[in-house]
Amino acid sequence: MYGKGLIKGLGVTFTRYWNTYWEDITWLVGRKGKRYFSAEGVAHRSSKDARGIFTVQYPEEKLPVPEEFRYVPFLVYEEGSNGEKNIRCTSCGICAKVCPPQCIWIVRTNDPATGRPVPAPAEFYIDADICMNCGFCAEYCPFDAIKMDHDYEISSEKRNVLDKQRLMKPRTYYAEIRPVNHAREEAARAEKAAAKAAKAEA
Ligand code: SF4
Ligand code: SF4
Repeated sequence: MYGKGLIKGLGVTFTRYWNTYWEDITWLVGRKGKRYFSAEGVAHRSSKDARGIFTVQYPEEKLPVPEEFRYVPFLVYEEGSNGEKNIRCTSCGICAKVCPPQCIWIVRTNDPATGRPVPAPAEFYIDADICMNCGFCAEYCPFDAIKMDHDYEISSEKRNVLDKQRLMKPRTYYAEIRPVNHAREEAARAEKAAAKAAKAEA
């Protein structure tokens, strides 16, 4: 029969339309709340049990991202006891070398008295418009100083070149967004420090 597919399609649309309102009513009555603008509601609409509307009301609602989600990198710093920001980066330049689209620029620091290099970047830039979010920089950094961020809301009207100030985030932030990776790295760091201490004692 001609038009059978059309009728079938309209049936699917109507069922979803109906289910949307039915689900809204059952949530209101059964759970005493709306199934929108809450983490529980978003989780439900992302699950296989979702009926009716399953879209997310962005930007009021956001889908949770998995730990390994990658956006533009950031630079990790340790918070000092006096509030100072001790950046882990030594400006070795490895990340800039391995970056496939070459969107990292680093200016090294020199000691003004001796002229010798200091292991910290004076300036650090990432062109977020060029970054392809591959994560190579984070993979290759020998100091766990650069990590892939979860923050994807960085659009701007102008060219999006992020400077050192904008890129720096505390280790606690890294631990929050990537708890498994952070715990593994800290354990490895502690193990290495213990081995070094034992070697020094021997
Ligand atoms: S982020 Fe890591 S790889 Fe890049 S310059 Fe700094 S220490 Fe080297
Ligand atoms: S994520 Fe990839 S493209 Fe982006 S800065 Fe790092 S190495 Fe370069």
